Amino acid sequence: MSQSALPAVEQITHPIGDFSGMRSSIGNFPQYAPHSAQDVINVVKHAVQKNHKLRFRAQGHSLNGGSLPKPEETLIVSHKLQQVRFKSPGTVCVGSGVVLWTLQDILKRVGFALPMYNDGYPGPTVGGYIGAGGIGPGSIEYGGFWNNVASVKIVDGLGELHEIHRGDEIFNWLFGSMGQLGYIVEATLKIIPSAHSHQPRYATGYQVTAPFLEKPVIPLEFQLQENQGLFWFTLVCPTEHLEVAHSSLKTLERSYHGVLQFQERYSYQIKYLDEPTPPLFHPYQGDLVATGAWGWLLEISEQGLSRLLEFDDAFTELTTTHPHYRRYIQSELPNAINDFRRCFGEEVYGKFESLKNHWDPHHVFNAGSVFIQP
Ligand SMILES: Cc1cc2nc3c(=O)[nH]c(=O)nc-3n(C[C@H](O)[C@H](O)[C@H](O)COP(=O)(O)OP(=O)(O)OC[C@H]3O[C@@H](n4cnc5c(N)ncnc54)[C@H](O)[C@@H]3O)c2cc1C
Repeated sequence: MSQSALPAVEQITHPIGDFSGMRSSIGNFPQYAPHSAQDVINVVKHAVQKNHKLRFRAQGHSLNGGSLPKPEETLIVSHKLQQVRFKSPGTVCVGSGVVLWTLQDILKRVGFALPMYNDGYPGPTVGGYIGAGGIGPGSIEYGGFWNNVASVKIVDGLGELHEIHRGDEIFNWLFGSMGQLGYIVEATLKIIPSAHSHQPRYATGYQVTAPFLEKPVIPLEFQLQENQGLFWFTLVCPTEHLEVAHSSLKTLERSYHGVLQFQERYSYQIKYLDEPTPPLFHPYQGDLVATGAWGWLLEISEQGLSRLLEFDDAFTELTTTHPHYRRYIQSELPNAINDFRRCFGEEVYGKFESLKNHWDPHHVFNAGSVFIQP
């Protein structure tokens, strides 16, 4: 199959950015929006045959440039994977491009809800949230997203489709993998009755196409003034270490006031539900808490950005030198391979790399973002 046999390849002629506002893609690249698993299979097989690279992007809410196409890459976007299907009671099958807050609205209309999803506003999609790991206010009762996904359909780096179930070795490694192991086409998510409905009827067979949110409405508290940047740095630790973590963060922040305007600290408790916590999230098997520093970079200038990157490095240093701390590196600013290695630790990084070599042996997906290309 030639590139022209992919009917909807579009040529984008301007650079795109991600939520960090700090990095941008090349200015001219092909983009493809698959409608189905078969489309993904075709595009991956074609890429393998032609020795092309693919870059995945959903809503671009990650901050590390991992969703930005580089030279010779085709961008695969998920905005046409919007099907929501009610197939089996207690669950819903959702296309990877559906924004979680949009899904929540759809579910509410039929009396159901997602047990947990992201904080803030309509941002991450199902595919992007699995890629990050997924935590939110509901985690206090329902754990991480990994506790709330029953199965995931992915296309691997050879163009083979797999349905991965909880309990399969690869399942837990998908959470935090940021598109390194496969393209997520669809996920089956657990649902619960919504707060105001009593024993809602599950309409087996019902399906709906979620609307695509090209530009989410950003609430005022997240809107930036011109020349300002939003940052956040998340530290994850066992609950009993929270107080010490807060005091370490306070000390760290002290020398950055004036350049970074820190906002009130957030903390999400993440209940341990007797299922393994994903290795790319945290090694501790027990209740965790995610807390951190967030706010505004007051001026996007050379000096401002360099202070932000200094803070970023100091934050990584803090989380890697303390045995109980980890950072949520995969969805935040660092974008150097060494940062991933440093944050995950040699053992986890090494295992992740061997899974990469198995699931995407030609490094077709998101090349050079987390691993050195062979
Ligand atoms: C305002 C805001 C609020 C947030 N709140 C939370 C929160 O409460 N909890 C939390 O856990 N995180 C939160 N995040 C982080 C966010 O969940 C992650 O950055 C997430 O990855 C973004 O999802 P996205 O759909 O925009 O994906 P993108 O940023 O477009 O992509 C993320 C990564 O996943 C890959 N990818 C995208 N789609 C697919 C696919 N279908 N298959 C395989 N790989 C794919 C991309 O290549 C990229 O590496 C927040 C981010 C923002 C900006």
